[in-house]
Amino acid sequence: MGTYGRFPITLVRGQGCWVRDHRGRRYLDAVAGIATCTLGHSDPAMRRALSQQLRRLQHVSNLYRIQEQEDLARWLVDHSCADSVFFCNSGAEANEAAIKLARKHGHTVRGIDRPVILTAQSSFHGRTLAAVSATGQPRYHAGFEPMVEGFETFPYNDLHGFEALLNRMEANGPRVAAVLLEPLQGEGGVNPGTVDFFRAVREHCSQRKILLILDEVQTGMGRTGCLWGYEQLGIEPDAFTLAKGLGGGHAIGALLVQQHADHFQPGDHASTFGGNPFACRAGLTVARELQRRHLLANVDARAEQLRTGLQTLVARHPDQLSGVRGWGLLQGLVLREEGSFQAADVVKAALDQGLLLVAAGPQVVRMVPPLVINRREVTSLIRRLAAALESLQA
Ligand code: PLP
Repeated sequence: MGTYGRFPITLVRGQGCWVRDHRGRRYLDAVAGIATCTLGHSDPAMRRALSQQLRRLQHVSNLYRIQEQEDLARWLVDHSCADSVFFCNSGAEANEAAIKLARKHGHTVRGIDRPVILTAQSSFHGRTLAAVSATGQPRYHAGFEPMVEGFETFPYNDLHGFEALLNRMEANGPRVAAVLLEPLQGEGGVNPGTVDFFRAVREHCSQRKILLILDEVQTGMGRTGCLWGYEQLGIEPDAFTLAKGLGGGHAIGALLVQQHADHFQPGDHASTFGGNPFACRAGLTVARELQRRHLLANVDARAEQLRTGLQTLVARHPDQLSGVRGWGLLQGLVLREEGSFQAADVVKAALDQGLLLVAAGPQVVRMVPPLVINRREVTSLIRRLAAALESLQA
């Protein structure tokens, strides 16, 4: 179906941070399946692990214990604030699970009949009906109304706005089950959360026994230079969701919860494919390679280089570019509203220069390369982007 506006190229091969199209043309991939191919393309460790897994066991039902699922859950729990994990297949699905969890929390812990979840304007939580209802961008709702009820939005990083909404919702007793937030808004324009705002929200949630749930679908698994985006903010969520980078290009999603938020009983939630041996082996491989290859340190070093390079471009095109923002290898080049081109134009011009980029709204060009990107490749990224901007300026 015509759900995607596609570029007229077919990508047929990939190696590390590079992909080739059907004509043999090579591109540096700073999209990485949109922040997903953590180890790049055709990674040797991933190839070995998944070939072996295909020979051993690909899929069995969650009617039985699954060793790879338990191993990945163990790794996630050992390396985060969470105590248990539910596996599914995508970011939207992970958020669906989180929304159900939040409602159950509202009913059982706060005694609310019709629980409400607070989310931020400009957020993005996925395209299933509940996830899109949680998404604070009306353009994703248009044409699909009525939305799922039980979501209210406030301006991101705006403590007064948050407190005003919370107080209004709770004026006559408990109504709010959870607050669902991205630590950094990815699709919404690469907007990092602020420490003061998230600390205050954490405090309000703790005081009222409201769940603080973070959507780490884009920020998780080392993308920001920390394993989890919440580390950038100095807080711990009661629950958080993962997908994208967790499987390094293989379909997996997860909801992670602290023990006090672990409300699901047998029969409450399920997924046929969720947490199957193949997907979990992919996740385990990403996890182990992140550690073995010290990829968090690589993210920090390459992010510094990328930011510096992007700032040079901002200085070179002050009438078009207004700045750079983001964490780690999730960076946004911000265009001026009054400039003569938009993010989509930059993405297209970059494609002509052999560089894959993705927009985050009309004014932000997003860079989310594989976490294995090296110094030479970041230099090449900047050079290609510089050429793309020159061509647009001309
Ligand atoms: N949440 C966030 C923060 C995302 O960035 C995305 C996808 O871009 C999603 C959820 C939805 O993930 P998926 O496309 O895997 O359903």
